[in-house]
Amino acid sequence: MVERKTSPAVEASLTALAVSLRGVTKAYDNGVMALGPFDLTVRKGEFISLLGPSGCGKSTALRIIAGLSAPSSGTVRVARHEGEVQPGQPGHGIGFVFQEPTLMPWTSVRENVRLPLRLAGVPKADARARADAALASVGLADFAGAYPRELSGGMKMRVSLARALVTDPDILLMDEPFAALDEITRFRLNNDLLVLWRRLGKTVIFVTHSVFESVYLSQRVVVMTARPGRIQADIRIETVEPRGEEFRTSAAYSDYCRRVSAALAPSYSGQSTL
Ligand code: ADP
Ligand code: MG
Repeated sequence: MVERKTSPAVEASLTALAVSLRGVTKAYDNGVMALGPFDLTVRKGEFISLLGPSGCGKSTALRIIAGLSAPSSGTVRVARHEGEVQPGQPGHGIGFVFQEPTLMPWTSVRENVRLPLRLAGVPKADARARADAALASVGLADFAGAYPRELSGGMKMRVSLARALVTDPDILLMDEPFAALDEITRFRLNNDLLVLWRRLGKTVIFVTHSVFESVYLSQRVVVMTARPGRIQADIRIETVEPRGEEFRTSAAYSDYCRRVSAALAPSYSGQSTL
């Protein structure tokens, strides 16, 4: 029996769709067929991972959802408070965290986080307060005046997360954000991300090629095939919530990792094991 701590309000919101992709394909100008046909439905408030081998089209899928890249065919629907974003139109209701923190080195942490608000024309005092609140939410309240070069890799990634959260997006897209970090830092950021997700109620689509990370974080792991990426498996991860370090060492966690690895294996079948 799995204990459920989700409130009725959260359950109700889960039934609403956040993202829907139908028959989406992407062929790049050089003829590379990167994605699809790809179908994905994500409910509001869900935390899902897209898991697949390098080059299978994970980043392509995220960019299409973000409206940063147009699909070659198919339909993309992204629900927001204000309605729906059309494909090819960047959505203000979306925050994007890239693998590299991509911070401006010449200015402070606070100014880096304030950037999206500055671009949106938010008055300075308001934007500063919101940037500081976003920094506090990722545990960096004391580093607003620091410069990126003074921060560790994990802290830079926290700044990048704060910058994505500062506009209060409904949907957070994260593209292998912790891949370059050491394991302990990665585990800490995993836990902090889960705390933030529970507190803020955002929809999260998290891209990774780590089975362990995908199972630890997500309510659903969507396993992709090799390029062009399609859905290989869609595996629900059910456990006692909230998750913490005890889940990482549980038998249930190992079982899920085994299942997800087995689903992922065919995606690597054509590749050299060297
Ligand atoms: P992943 O994020 O899963 O590693 P990507 O979505 O980045 O995969 O890329 C999928 C495939 O599309 C790869 O073969 C990659 O080389 C190719 N690709 C990605 N971006 C472009 C581009 N702008 N132009 C041409 N090919 C691209
Ligand atoms: Mg990628």
